[in-house]
Amino acid sequence: MSYAGSNPGPFDPSDPFGPPRPRRSPLRRPLTVALAALVPGALLGWLVYEALGGTGSGGANGPGAGAGAAPSVLSSPANGADSAGGAGGDGKTGVGTSTASASAPAGSGATSLQGRVVVIDPGHNLTNYRHTTDINRKVDIGTNRKECDTTGTSTNSGYSEAEFTLDVAHRLRALLQQQGATVRLTQDADRPYGPCVDERARIGNAAHADAVVSIHADGAGAGQRGFHVILPGAVHEGAADTRAIVAPSKDLGKLIAGDFSRATGTSPSNYVGDGTGLVTREDLGGLNLSTVPKVFIECGNMRDTKDAALLTSGAWRQKAAQGISEGIVSFLHGS
Ligand code: ZN
Repeated sequence: MSYAGSNPGPFDPSDPFGPPRPRRSPLRRPLTVALAALVPGALLGWLVYEALGGTGSGGANGPGAGAGAAPSVLSSPANGADSAGGAGGDGKTGVGTSTASASAPAGSGATSLQGRVVVIDPGHNLTNYRHTTDINRKVDIGTNRKECDTTGTSTNSGYSEAEFTLDVAHRLRALLQQQGATVRLTQDADRPYGPCVDERARIGNAAHADAVVSIHADGAGAGQRGFHVILPGAVHEGAADTRAIVAPSKDLGKLIAGDFSRATGTSPSNYVGDGTGLVTREDLGGLNLSTVPKVFIECGNMRDTKDAALLTSGAWRQKAAQGISEGIVSFLHGS
């Protein structure tokens, strides 16, 4: 899409969910590896797998190229001017079933999610780019005023973040419904733009959701790889009061991060989160206005060609949905 040619920079300034702070120096790579090694189980296994020439899908080995891009994000967040395009109609592609059985509970009666409500928030909207005036309108997020929504990013070949998020949302919905959960989407390509970030939060609140996950993919620089889960920070200002959801959201996020890493074989971000795959933010309306446990997940970096190869794979997206689903299921069983 035109987006790819018009904004080749390593960061997508239109994405409010981009890296909140500058990347770390390559000198910190040993620290990254050391921290990553502290994460037991799946991540360690992944590192071994990676060292043996596995999928090449991780970020912990990345050198962190392209210094100097972060300030552009910090100085001009979410201008929403770039079009991620992507009118593709495959957002409703049927969910693959090849791996679905892996999530089936051993005893479905005992582990049923009957009566539990999960809201899935597919980030952005396939046609936001046609409604720039509407999505640039500022809304109150309690701590600030921020754009209603943004177009999101895309891969260099034009696969839009909005297509990605909706596809993963459909796969995730199917997996959770198999477990008996009631699942709602904040948008399902059924509206011209948005919803605005404040409405996205209120949809989860009104549904009295037991858990909400907002799905995204990042627009960072080449060489910046891996996923991260964004947790709400404690804010209490205006309509925002996250104090009651900080702890359960952290539990939810940690479970999703662990299961996502294991299910997809990818490692935590090598550019934010210090190798933990967890980042806390206080500037996102979708989190600030939530009154129910909620996290965002940035599943990978669409602007890195290796991550993009994963994000554009239906089989990988099924694994991503599987990992997110398992984290949510674990959270609901423990809460
Ligand atoms: Zn996004």
